[in-house]
Amino acid sequence: MIVVTGASGQLGRLVVQGLRAKLPADQIVAAARSTDKAAGLGVEVRHADYNDPATLATAFAGADKVLLVSSNEVGNRVAQHTAAVEAAKQAGVRHLIYTSAPKADDTALVLAPDHKATEEAIRASGLPYTFLRNGWYTENYQEKIEQAVRDGSFAGSAGDGRIASATRADYAEAAVAVLTTDGHEGKVYELSGDQTWTYADLADAIGAAAGRPVTYRNLTSDEHRAALVEAGLPAEVAGFVVALDGNTADGLLGETSGDLRRLIGRPTTPYAETVAEIVKSVG
Ligand code: NDP
Repeated sequence: MIVVTGASGQLGRLVVQGLRAKLPADQIVAAARSTDKAAGLGVEVRHADYNDPATLATAFAGADKVLLVSSNEVGNRVAQHTAAVEAAKQAGVRHLIYTSAPKADDTALVLAPDHKATEEAIRASGLPYTFLRNGWYTENYQEKIEQAVRDGSFAGSAGDGRIASATRADYAEAAVAVLTTDGHEGKVYELSGDQTWTYADLADAIGAAAGRPVTYRNLTSDEHRAALVEAGLPAEVAGFVVALDGNTADGLLGETSGDLRRLIGRPTTPYAETVAEIVKSVG
């Protein structure tokens, strides 16, 4: 039996749906903090709050494999994930699969430390594991794209840094492949899109989909931070956004290993396709 955590979230939901297409429903459990949001997936739903270890023990009971979808509570994640790893060990789980970040153990990516610590906790647990080091979702740029459609331009400080994004659905399909086929224990997959693109390319793709020119304005980090604060973002959030653009400029989101394509057995979804869908949804 396979338990998927974070099943109320966007990635977890896609994984459960993908599993449903391959396995009988009684072999899948959707574990969620917000169980109401995971209702309707057609599988058993169990309450699982990373902050409440007792719920994790119940949620993982009887599981052969657990997909631990990383929490979105940055700052609390190491304790949350460690609790999940301990619960998986106590429950006798035979394979723990974790959604990590690119090169989590050897990168300056601002989001990586939580993932590095979680990977270390998993290795230390002695559980057979697989790390799905998910690269960026193309959907992360939804707000930027919507704003660019409205204004005809967008700003950032990523220079000509390249991004190897893929869709959530692509990453979910890779998780389903690992959960439903053999030979993944001990493997670390660097998952990312086949294509890389820059913010200037993104502007062109938005413009092509919207039918009018869109430009990218590259700012220095200081200018970018000031513009974000001026637009109303708290200083801490602005600093985080600028740091991520700095990471992008440094190429930390631009590696294309081909692992994702190999796992899903098809090319990853082209970013321009996702951009066009988002532009269409803006109307
Ligand atoms: P979502 O924000 O849609 O989902 C996050 C999930 O984490 C939700 O199901 C949420 O539950 C769950 N969660 C948060 N806190 C807890 C908790 N205390 N106990 C149990 N579950 C909890 O993110 P996505 O599905 O899009 O992405 C999955 C993960 O990937 C993110 O959580 C984040 O770690 C990471 N991520 C990766 C990105 C990338 O580009 N690779 C971009 C953004 C995030 P609830 O519904 O109850 O809130």
